[in-house]
Amino acid sequence: MDQLKMGTKCVQAGYTPENGEPRQIPIIQSTTFKYDTSEAMGRLFDLEDSGYFYTRLQNPTNDYVAAKIATLEGGSAGMLTSSGQAANFMALFNICECGSHIVASSSIYGGTFNLIAVTMAKMGIEVTFVSPTASDEELDAAFKDNTRAMFGESIANPALTVLDIEKFAAAAHRHGVPLIVDNTFPTPVNCRPIEWGADIVTHSTTKYMDGHGAAVGGAIVDSGKFDWMAHADKFPGLTTPDDSYHGIVYAEKFGKEGAFITKATAQLMRDFGCIQAPQNAFILNLGLESLHVRMAKHVENGQAVAEFLKTQDKVAAVNYPGLESDPYHEIAMKYMPKGGCGVVSFELEGGRQAAESFMKKLKVAAIETHVADARTCCLNPATSTHRQMTDEQLKEAGIPAGLIRISCGLEDKEDLIADIANALG
Ligand SMILES: *Cc1c(COP(=O)(O)O)cnc(C)c1O
Repeated sequence: MDQLKMGTKCVQAGYTPENGEPRQIPIIQSTTFKYDTSEAMGRLFDLEDSGYFYTRLQNPTNDYVAAKIATLEGGSAGMLTSSGQAANFMALFNICECGSHIVASSSIYGGTFNLIAVTMAKMGIEVTFVSPTASDEELDAAFKDNTRAMFGESIANPALTVLDIEKFAAAAHRHGVPLIVDNTFPTPVNCRPIEWGADIVTHSTTKYMDGHGAAVGGAIVDSGKFDWMAHADKFPGLTTPDDSYHGIVYAEKFGKEGAFITKATAQLMRDFGCIQAPQNAFILNLGLESLHVRMAKHVENGQAVAEFLKTQDKVAAVNYPGLESDPYHEIAMKYMPKGGCGVVSFELEGGRQAAESFMKKLKVAAIETHVADARTCCLNPATSTHRQMTDEQLKEAGIPAGLIRISCGLEDKEDLIADIANALG
């Protein structure tokens, strides 16, 4: 399967039925699994055998889909989580604890910013935010003795900045910690962070991977490349005995390829229980089967809409890495030469009032708190997700009051452009 091209993997990876078995992945709608002896089940509890005993930890349907996503990203192992938030939390908390420190790009999804800066701070985990355009020296200066992970988004939601993955990975590795990249927006069809040095990749599968606005979900993929044992003092959770599993050492028993995901499953899923429902995993897989076809169309529509907006007098600025004028164009061409995603943001002259009246006039695009869906949708952060902020604060955060984020769906681009032209009126 690893030799096959991306589209074939999207359709077929993760599940290979035997003679007479269902062609489509079965939905194993069962909380529990039956064993002939308690001894056999005990071996699962000791992590001596692999298998299923309770869906809060693992379910076969989820594992087929996680294996597909791991193959798409070029990783060694993967797991599904109940949401993208759960994926980012678990990826970080698997190697951080009270007293740890994280270096994160400041240009990330608001929910992840809040997770790291507010909620994980309450757990005693500190963060230093760095600009996605920081120099090597600035990156180095952000690390501390207790730093355990570096985090960024390949294309940031909603700022649409592009992460210099090689540069961030090199900085993380100079300081003996892994780089975690949230690859939600480009998906592995357009960008594969592991090939550029990222160690762990996360996803909100709620977005393009599902792609139909049908199921909330997340995923974590491990590259299997980070040498935990070489930095054993930093990662005791992986390199010293786990008393809750009779003293097994994950990095020894499961090696570089399996330690991270096995620990996240055996400990964090067991204790937090943020598993994806098998039904949702099945829906996610339907989306994955067409991901390579859909991403090309999302990019085509995003590019066409961005180019159109660029020609309009009432539009003060357009952010889209596919535009040659975009500050992230060059770096986007390096990491995602086929294009990034279908999300475009632009600023209207006239602030929130202009944004509001523009959005009201749209007929094809709908106003929604969502992105990366088959149906085009848009949002004015100043009057919705960020409405508690003043115009001054919005400006500082790089989200001017007149900014609109439009997520170009799979409709015909001529209709999207005509809708926007009419609303600009
Ligand atoms: C939406 C999003 C998340 C959070 O995912 P949910 O599935 O909504 O929990 C995380 N990262 C990025 C980049 C996102 O766009």
